Amino acid sequence: MSLADQFPDITKRNQPLAPFTHLKIGGPAEFVVHPRSLDELNAVLSACQRDKVPVRMLGGGFNLLIKDDPVPGAVVRLTAEPFTYLHRDGKRVTAGGGGQLFDLIALTVKHGLGGLETLVGIRGTVGGSVRCNVGDRSGEISQTVRNVTVLTDAGKVQVRGRDELTFTEHQSDLDEPVILSVEFELDSEPPDVVLKRMLKAWIQRKAAEPLSFQAAVRLFRNPPGHTAATLIDRAQMTKARTGGAELSERNSNYAVAHPGTTARDILQLAEIVRAKVKERTGVLLERELHVW
Ligand SMILES: Cc1cc2nc3c(=O)[nH]c(=O)nc-3n(C[C@H](O)[C@H](O)[C@H](O)COP(=O)(O)OP(=O)(O)OC[C@H]3O[C@@H](n4cnc5c(N)ncnc54)[C@H](O)[C@@H]3O)c2cc1C
Repeated sequence: MSLADQFPDITKRNQPLAPFTHLKIGGPAEFVVHPRSLDELNAVLSACQRDKVPVRMLGGGFNLLIKDDPVPGAVVRLTAEPFTYLHRDGKRVTAGGGGQLFDLIALTVKHGLGGLETLVGIRGTVGGSVRCNVGDRSGEISQTVRNVTVLTDAGKVQVRGRDELTFTEHQSDLDEPVILSVEFELDSEPPDVVLKRMLKAWIQRKAAEPLSFQAAVRLFRNPPGHTAATLIDRAQMTKARTGGAELSERNSNYAVAHPGTTARDILQLAEIVRAKVKERTGVLLERELHVW
């Protein structure tokens, strides 16, 4: 029995994935599953494990390039309330892994809780953002993480404390199948102070990113002591283009997908840029974008 037969209410077969990603690129998934509860999620993962069906978690699709071919197996989206809730207890806030980072930041700013506000404008889910340790020069999300609740391969809910986790530049060692929720510990401050910092960060971020109507993704991690964008400019690759994919003129570390762009265009552009940066600056850039 296929996954669609076992979980007919929550599973769609041959579902296009492009609409679920920021780039609006990518082939269809064999199955897309929207579990409504932890029990249902657990049952889906157990069935996949038993039948050797690969499972992938899809957040907001802001750090993801899905290739043009069909994606085999199950793609799981945590959009139901048990995965998107926000709960505040004093200076601690717990957020479901499928909730939006923006909603979390809005709640913390409203309650005068500092620590996350400078990440405003980074889009994605809480689970995807913690897994990718989002941040910039002002700080990283990991600085406020107290613990992360995950679902393991064995179907167990486990809490991983901050001291058991390793976060580096835009990555973490969170390799369990699902990030269910994250508890953050923040600093109490006057709400207007936190709000002011958030607005400043918003203005700075918007000036350094592709225009908001453009479908774009960040390509590379910043290597120690450099920014990827500066190295790309130094390698004279500013505004490089392959097919419909072009480096953003506002920040060379973003690929903008013009209409008709394929995943292959983006991957080729990234490879050409990486090779030129290595040749001309000696630095080998590491891809930040997750690719399916
Ligand atoms: C225009 C633009 C600007 C950006 N600016 C920044 C920036 O300034 N700083 C920065 O750090 N990033 C930035 N990003 C990258 C991106 O916003 C983040 O990495 C984003 O938070 C990823 O979250 P997501 O939910 O979209 O994850 P997705 O892209 O959907 O997934 C990313 C990875 O996380 C996994 N994942 C998702 N949810 C879960 C879960 N619940 N459990 C387990 N695994 C999961 C996926 O399987 C995948 O491997 C930017 C992206 C764009 C498009």
